Amino acid sequence: MSGASAVTEQRVDGVVVVGLGGIGSAAAHALAARGETVLGLDPRSAGHRDGSSHGAARLVRQAYFEDPAYVPLAARAWRLWHDLEAAAGERLLTPAGVLTLAAPDDPRGVVPAVLGAAERHGLPVEALAAGEVRRRYPAVRLGDDWQAVLERDAGFVDPEATVRAQLRLAGAAGAELRADRVVAIEPGDEPVVVTTARRYRARAVVVAAGPWAPGLLADAGLPIVARRKVVAHFTPRDPAALGPAALPGFVLSDAAGLFYGFPFLPGHGVRIGRHDGGEDTTPEGVDRVVRPEEVAELRAALERVLPEAAGPLLSAVTCLYTMSPDGDFLLGPLPGAPGVVVATGCSGHAFKFVPALGEALADLATGRAPGLELGFLDPARFASAASA
Ligand SMILES: Cc1cc2nc3c(=O)[nH]c(=O)nc-3n(C[C@H](O)[C@H](O)[C@H](O)COP(=O)(O)OP(=O)(O)OC[C@H]3O[C@@H](n4cnc5c(N)ncnc54)[C@H](O)[C@@H]3O)c2cc1C
Repeated sequence: MSGASAVTEQRVDGVVVVGLGGIGSAAAHALAARGETVLGLDPRSAGHRDGSSHGAARLVRQAYFEDPAYVPLAARAWRLWHDLEAAAGERLLTPAGVLTLAAPDDPRGVVPAVLGAAERHGLPVEALAAGEVRRRYPAVRLGDDWQAVLERDAGFVDPEATVRAQLRLAGAAGAELRADRVVAIEPGDEPVVVTTARRYRARAVVVAAGPWAPGLLADAGLPIVARRKVVAHFTPRDPAALGPAALPGFVLSDAAGLFYGFPFLPGHGVRIGRHDGGEDTTPEGVDRVVRPEEVAELRAALERVLPEAAGPLLSAVTCLYTMSPDGDFLLGPLPGAPGVVVATGCSGHAFKFVPALGEALADLATGRAPGLELGFLDPARFASAASA
């Protein structure tokens, strides 16, 4: 009894945003920019390296080989990245393009899928014969039987600078941002109660807790799990031939896996990661030590297509995805709890959408229908899993 009465309670006549990483900072910014009352809660500092939004770069693409249903969201995000840069007064996006390379044994069919998504949505992409790739990008090695496609309105963003910029803009627009860890979210009709060392009663809550969401939302029974990933940075033998002026961001799909990477960036070298694979984990239990065989796998992928990039190892880090069973996001209200809007299960591909996700979350948390068709991401598709 005495413990309960000691908890300070506060009414928030607006939205509480739980988690201020890539997506939560975008939601806080979008809500505050609309004049909504916003309280953002996160125990970690902006741009921290424990979750999913740290490191040198994230690919931004629009011709979505994973599923063309994402293209309107990607196109909206592409516009909003430019708006965000203008508002922040800094460069976040490097529009170097993205080159997708597929070996003859590519089991995913990524190049036809990029071309199909582009055709369906009228996006400018260029199918390139192997010889043309070698002519334009002399650092790239590929056989005549490979497939390739270049997307020009694509590139990469700086994730840590993005989080910091969105939080700065949110604060400037009136959002209150507190270093505080949420321990419970109680969905009522209205208000929702969010508990840290205090209790907040709010109209709605946006939960964007990244790889911590499986723990924080455990009672909701969502089929989401954190997954350990590794990214390595190599010092190229000839940096000048591998910078963003000479090489776009890239995707490589072959029988060994689905890899992604970036041109040489000063201080970061050439960065490469593997999108598929990885082991399920938790943010508390994850093994942060990178194993030699993981570096060797990434080096081998570079050697297949960019041998000049595979110089000495500069650094290798772990990072976390939050996986859903179908690889699609869970974006929308929790089934049976309309005041609790989640953005989770982002399965390692959400950063490119960050400003558009912020906008959609701001709509959903204030009772507006998002301007785009996002029903395919509704968490309700797992309602039976949640109630099982
Ligand atoms: C190595 C790697 C490479 C990637 N590459 C790409 C790419 O090229 N392109 C792309 O589009 N996407 C990419 N992604 C995916 C993308 O980065 C993620 O989908 C995105 O960053 C997820 O952001 P988030 O806000 O959900 O999570 P995070 O940024 O991890 O934010 C979650 C926040 O919640 C906070 N939090 C946790 N628990 C609590 C609590 N109890 N109370 C309050 N706050 C809490 C945390 O402190 C954290 O700040 C990549 C991901 C990784 C890991």
